[in-house]
Amino acid sequence: MADPVALARELIRCPSVTPAEGGALALIGRVLTGAGFKVNRVTFAEPGTDPIENLYARIGTQAPHLMLAGHTDVVPPGDETKWTHPPFAAEIADGVLYGRGAVDMKGAIACKLAAALDYVAAAGGKPKGSLSFLITGDEEGIAVNGTIKLLEWLADHGETFDHAILGEPTNPEKLGDMIKIGRRGSQNGTLVVTGTQGHVAYPELADNPVRGIASLMGAVNAEPLDHGTEHFGASNLEFTSIDVGNKTVNLIPAEARARFNIRFNDTRSREDLRAEVERRVARAAENRIRWRIDWEPSNADVFLTAPGPFVDMISGAIKEVTGLTPKLSTTGGTSDARFIKDYCPVIEFGLLSQQMHKTDEHVATADLVALTAIYRHIFERYFG
Ligand SMILES: [Zn+2]
Repeated sequence: MADPVALARELIRCPSVTPAEGGALALIGRVLTGAGFKVNRVTFAEPGTDPIENLYARIGTQAPHLMLAGHTDVVPPGDETKWTHPPFAAEIADGVLYGRGAVDMKGAIACKLAAALDYVAAAGGKPKGSLSFLITGDEEGIAVNGTIKLLEWLADHGETFDHAILGEPTNPEKLGDMIKIGRRGSQNGTLVVTGTQGHVAYPELADNPVRGIASLMGAVNAEPLDHGTEHFGASNLEFTSIDVGNKTVNLIPAEARARFNIRFNDTRSREDLRAEVERRVARAAENRIRWRIDWEPSNADVFLTAPGPFVDMISGAIKEVTGLTPKLSTTGGTSDARFIKDYCPVIEFGLLSQQMHKTDEHVATADLVALTAIYRHIFERYFG
């Protein structure tokens, strides 16, 4: 039996803070080559960004094709002196493995590797169907030279997928709590109101954009955007910053800006939300307030992998190992599933989410063993 704890420790010891490869992909490549996978290492780059290494490995040529997705890059450890166990030492104390990436998501990659090695060995090196690993080093950063480009590259090379499992940490309390079957979309924007600068004692000679932006913000948030759907909560627009940049007490400023983010559900598209927000602002502004909205480019669309046989099969495997029936959720931030969903249905299931990005990030070694068993059950059911 492959040992997921040993693999997780080896991965954590690779200092792969984005954009560094840190030896993590090389390690995965060695392990998978040894098991009979055909391994490709691909580096992507574009002007103004760091070149990033990625890995794709496949065994089998037949359908169905199950893709296991993940990232080996990790966020920086922060102040290392605050860690009880050094962030890249992978120490174990009282059945708990410490290190950056323990849950997000080297631990889950180690479980997928161990489960795949065992499954392929049990199948005499010739699994029914095809199993592949799509691993990027660019998830925690700006995510432009990772999964999105690797999927395009694979499509150009004729690779197709039937289903994918991304190993992000999904469980709030206990392993088996939660599967993510979708994610909300995300859109950033800035509301800009232009006025006329002037002396605070002569407001009739000026036009204060602070008054204008306050009333427009109120109008935008006066009514909920919608009331949610079967699998999603309500879409929400949240203002995150109001900026005037005025350091002078007796000056009416010329411009005010308010940044916001919208998280939206599957009744919405980016275009329809933009139109709705602009309609609300225009109605409140009438001809009194001069405004515009600067919309930022976004690649985070909403998606849902509707419950059905694939999701049921995964829930069944989780229940078999943990005794829990996982909640099907669409909460949380965006993930690389937003890119994978354009190629095949994707769900996310990994370790516990509480420790992500924290000082002393850690995972129970028992969870690594149990998650490996879950993935193994999934492979048996999927290819059975
Ligand atoms: Zn992650």
